Amino acid sequence: MPTIPALLQAGPTYSLEFYPPRNEKGDRQLARTLDHLMPLEPSFVSVTYGAGGTSRERTEEIVHDIRSRFGAQVLPHLTCIGHTKAEIEALLRTYEADGVTDLLALHGDPPADGRVLPEGDFRYAVELVEFVRELTEFSIGVAAHTEGHPLATSREADRDHQAAKLKVADFAMCQFFFEARHYIDFMEDMAARGVTTPVIPGVIPVTNPAQTRRMVEMAGGTFPTELGARLEGAETPAEGRAIGVEHAANLARELLDAGAPGIHFYPMNRWMATTDLYDALGLVETV
Ligand SMILES: Cc1cc2nc3c(=O)[nH]c(=O)nc-3n(C[C@H](O)[C@H](O)[C@H](O)COP(=O)(O)OP(=O)(O)OC[C@H]3O[C@@H](n4cnc5c(N)ncnc54)[C@H](O)[C@@H]3O)c2cc1C
Repeated sequence: MPTIPALLQAGPTYSLEFYPPRNEKGDRQLARTLDHLMPLEPSFVSVTYGAGGTSRERTEEIVHDIRSRFGAQVLPHLTCIGHTKAEIEALLRTYEADGVTDLLALHGDPPADGRVLPEGDFRYAVELVEFVRELTEFSIGVAAHTEGHPLATSREADRDHQAAKLKVADFAMCQFFFEARHYIDFMEDMAARGVTTPVIPGVIPVTNPAQTRRMVEMAGGTFPTELGARLEGAETPAEGRAIGVEHAANLARELLDAGAPGIHFYPMNRWMATTDLYDALGLVETV
């Protein structure tokens, strides 16, 4: 199966992100979603990882399940916060044995429930990239924060740290955002720092504006007031979904026109808006 850098070279890629559900109802929802979305033949799918290892087994299990059931290219996320080098090495060996070829190397955020994680052996994601590079042949992706990371001391320092990390990675992926100019500005700033690594922008067809706004703001991004008002003014779920899909389709087109090497979609473990979005973008004939 081609690695993600190889897919990007042949691009554009259209990929999907899933997260490990927290209960049985969520498991059933994800299973139904995979049955609807995997026939769309995404270029690859990614599976998130609970910082500190909170979803470790679930992430491994879902990665294995999607690879074996659908024969798809799967990108596991891996965070280093609170982990020792020995723990990370054990995880890398498990993925290697399972035939995984690509990894998204992240720092991770402290748990939202206030739990304190052990200190761990890694300070920044770039150290995880270096560690994975030394031990394995994985192609390595990293996180890119188009609107800046919330903990950065200044925009310039943040851009410098991100550029240094992107330079040692094979590709980068963004959290979802809502205006193409954030990506265009970011790419200009990276190019000025000598970065040539492909950066895949993130697009979400919003169906739950309150939840999306919370997530975007926590990640240091902005949710446009006008889009929020249109979504909140929708009279039926179908009307709201159509607004979210229209915005996402327009944004995806703008990003591809601006030179993005692909689009990473965030279905939030649901399928309807993403099938509508694939349809709106002409990525399938019938869905
Ligand atoms: C596409 C994507 C997927 C994600 N998936 C997950 C997931 O599955 N699980 C999860 O828990 N989280 C996930 N996250 C969230 C991510 O873990 C957080 O955004 C985290 O706060 C930062 O991770 P990072 O890898 O960018 O960290 P880093 O690159 O380490 O950056 C973290 C902070 O440190 C600063 N910094 C970096 N290097 C230096 C340096 N040398 N000196 C001083 N400061 C420095 C940066 O400017 C930034 O403020 C994801 C984010 C993205 C964009």
